[in-house]
Amino acid sequence: MLLGIAIVMLLGLAVFVAAPLLSAQTSSGTLPVDVTPLGDLKRRRLVVYENLKDLEFEYQSGKIDRQDYESLKTNYLGEAAALMATTRQAEELKEKEAVIEREVTARRALRRQPRSPQYVCLKCGFENPVPVKFCGECGARIAGKS
Ligand SMILES: [Zn+2]
Repeated sequence: MLLGIAIVMLLGLAVFVAAPLLSAQTSSGTLPVDVTPLGDLKRRRLVVYENLKDLEFEYQSGKIDRQDYESLKTNYLGEAAALMATTRQAEELKEKEAVIEREVTARRALRRQPRSPQYVCLKCGFENPVPVKFCGECGARIAGKS
């Protein structure tokens, strides 16, 4: 009984100790569904726009001088431009991947379709794609279809 309690406590302790390590591993390894690279870029872009808005406000209310305002604004705009360029690249990559994905899916579906052996010509080996009485390649009668 005591041993059982001790084991349960040890297991609890092990989970307690390992949980942060495990969660740290998953966050750096496989990303959660909602944190896609594109989603992250969008979030960062919004942050930059937010910063620009704040900067504008601070300049208008006289909290920072013109020189700081100009240099900060240039930095933010550069950052926004870089993020937009990266976003465009990521979107193009995603589109390409989608095209490839569709291609792969289509080919897999094609391969899964079992070829009906009754339309394979026994004389020349041609695999007639549609039900036929005579081979489309050599004209021999297809066995079983008379
Ligand atoms: Zn044939």
